[in-house]
Amino acid sequence: MEPRFWKDFWATRALPRCKETCWRAISGYLPLNERLFHRRVDVDPGCNFCASAMEHEDHLFLLCPTTKRVWLASQIGVRGDSFSSFREFWRVVIQLGDDEVAAMAQSIVYALWEARNHKCFQQREVITDVVLGRARALMEEVQVRDQASAPAVAFPARWRRPGPGIIKCNFDASFLVDGPAGMGMVARNSEGEVMAAACSYPLSTISPLLAEALSMRWTMQLAIDLGFRRILLETDCLQLFKAWKAKEAGRSYLSSIISDCRLLVSAFDYVNLSFVRRTGNTVADSLARNAATYAGFVWVEEVPDAALPFVISDVTLLEPIGI
Ligand SMILES: [Zn+2]
Repeated sequence: MEPRFWKDFWATRALPRCKETCWRAISGYLPLNERLFHRRVDVDPGCNFCASAMEHEDHLFLLCPTTKRVWLASQIGVRGDSFSSFREFWRVVIQLGDDEVAAMAQSIVYALWEARNHKCFQQREVITDVVLGRARALMEEVQVRDQASAPAVAFPARWRRPGPGIIKCNFDASFLVDGPAGMGMVARNSEGEVMAAACSYPLSTISPLLAEALSMRWTMQLAIDLGFRRILLETDCLQLFKAWKAKEAGRSYLSSIISDCRLLVSAFDYVNLSFVRRTGNTVADSLARNAATYAGFVWVEEVPDAALPFVISDVTLLEPIGI
């Protein structure tokens, strides 16, 4: 693995012990049965889960029927046998550039290793939901750790009108595991009036973050087509917001979508991206969730009925002009 891979690998939000175990698995340092057997340790070289193959990294963490069920049922939703090796699987995961996916994959590998040891030493059966529940619990530990150390940042929870002459384009993606994602956008002026709305569907993608990034690129292209020259893009995806602000060019799929967006910036007189909590992005969210019904629709100066209550609610909650 190249140094860049390890830099990104160690930078994820997963717990250190998950990354450590995963690193040992990728590097071939875990005491797996096949390895022990070759070192003349008195063990059965077979897989602890299924006993029908040798226990090495590719099998235990990717190809074993038990493991395949876990990956397929996970929020990552991948097929273990679509990768040539465990290392190849990791190359692809890190290449995606989605921290959430990489951290979850590291937590799943840790949970699988734990389940393998429970089976080996305590004869505990391996249950897919238990392994995934453990991986999710590890991720929740990360959240608790992050919340404890993060300074309280006040992000707006309500939609706010843009400045005069600026069109605010809220966008969102709805994501279904193992299914297509829908995209929605709504453009409003400084009076809170709807200038345009649109839906797109389906969009095949592997993670919520990538779906959000694709949604941003699509929104910028639409804004160009609609003739908007000064826009404020708005997302409820904090990771996307941070990736955009970081201005760091990587080689991941996420970075390449963000680079596309940066190229589109030159088509405008003004572009910025702001973050709002989900409660301030309900119009775009409802459009994304209804994208299957309204695939490819663009509305000028109106929104479809499904999104109307949210537009009204945003305007009702607005602070009076001039304050
Ligand atoms: Zn097996």
